[in-house]
Amino acid sequence: MTAVQSSAGDRGGELVRRPRRRAVALRPSLLAVYVPAVVALHLTLTVVGLLATVPRARDLLTLAALLACGAVCIEASRRLGMPAGVARDMLSAWWLPVALLLPPVYALLVPIPLQMLLQFRVRRTLLYRRVLVMAALGLAGAGTSLLFHLVVPDPLGGRPSWVIEGWPGIPVAVGCAALFTVLNTVLVAIAAHAANPGGRWRDVLWNRESLLLDVVELCVGVLVAITSALSLGLLVLALPPVVLLQRSLMHQQLQAAARTDAKTGLLNAAAWQREADTELARAQRTHDPLALLLIDIDYFKRVNDTHGHLVGDHVLIGVASTLCGQLRDYDVVGRFGGEEFVVLLPGADTVEACRVAERLRGRVRRLAVPAENGTVGVTISVGVALFRMHGEDLIELLAAADLALYRAKQSGRDRVCLPAIEGPKAADG
Ligand code: GH3
Ligand code: MG
Ligand code: MG
Repeated sequence: MTAVQSSAGDRGGELVRRPRRRAVALRPSLLAVYVPAVVALHLTLTVVGLLATVPRARDLLTLAALLACGAVCIEASRRLGMPAGVARDMLSAWWLPVALLLPPVYALLVPIPLQMLLQFRVRRTLLYRRVLVMAALGLAGAGTSLLFHLVVPDPLGGRPSWVIEGWPGIPVAVGCAALFTVLNTVLVAIAAHAANPGGRWRDVLWNRESLLLDVVELCVGVLVAITSALSLGLLVLALPPVVLLQRSLMHQQLQAAARTDAKTGLLNAAAWQREADTELARAQRTHDPLALLLIDIDYFKRVNDTHGHLVGDHVLIGVASTLCGQLRDYDVVGRFGGEEFVVLLPGADTVEACRVAERLRGRVRRLAVPAENGTVGVTISVGVALFRMHGEDLIELLAAADLALYRAKQSGRDRVCLPAIEGPKAADG
């Protein structure tokens, strides 16, 4: 299931030290209502559930066994670490069986110790995010549990006929597991969207990769539930493959995180440079044209100073997603540093590069990032450099684009410039 980590944590210390920034008090007005509401609902249902549920030895034993497996999984990934941002773990393998096999109150309870373990043993993240994830998992699990128990009232009772006969118990278990995934994703996505209203719903809900992981987690969760219903001892056989799956998932995510800028999701400078070198070598071989754009947000310091760093961050994210939305799949776009972005356009000659740069400039101009009192607009300046015309390797091209960017800034900002002396290309607005 999705584990929200501290993607904003990298600036966290700074935010606390500098009182001028109104980061925390900012627009998250929706968040400020939504998170407490979800957490209060979770707590209320947990208390009601505790009062209404008669504990049974078999339920408690199953809970303890699944909790222990979850704790082993977390401990096993501890040394590997967890990437910042939204990370995927395989803990659904343990939440789902609790939801399917035990009364709803256990599904409400089980995320609490496991999320605390993640928080204190693996990665500390912003507390409100951790608590929200805890509540979302609990509520999704309780809904799943209620529904499954309507069809299979006592999944652990005596001989588990829903497992042995298979029908309709197992298809219903799969359906309920899917419901769990949907509920949990939606509860967390609403908070993610409230924190970044400029982002697209599609990005916070699903993409093809996360859908595949959801399906894997769902299958593993249902298999572990079936195994546990047959015999708790079989969990000893289920645990090692789940741990291995989780470790390989973490490894893959850590590798991806090492290439990515956590704030914008673009390539980081080192990864961009590696990919750009490959493209440059290809252009050299094929004699194709290639262009480089160096993009810098105008007066970005003012945005931070006026609206706070959190709004500044949203501007960065907005600019990054505008760039991505306007470029082709094979263009290489990265965050070069603070508020500087760099784009490699394979196959682009001077006319095409300037056309793309102008389009990017126009699109960024239309951005309206919500702030405390209205919206923030930004502009960019772009330096363009052409392979062979302005440089023979990446260092020369970057130096030429930097020169062009300097010219764009000197001539008034919000414009596209080449390094040559032909004069700046006039901005269209
Ligand atoms: P110019 O038009 O000349 O480019 O002016 P500028 O204000 O954009 O340029 P300057 O280089 O003076 O300011 C860049 C600012 O970007 C300063 C720095 O605090 C801010 N910054 C760098 N990284 C981040 C970040 O990750 N988040 C936020 N919010 N601000 C950042
Ligand atoms: Mg700059
Ligand atoms: Mg700038």
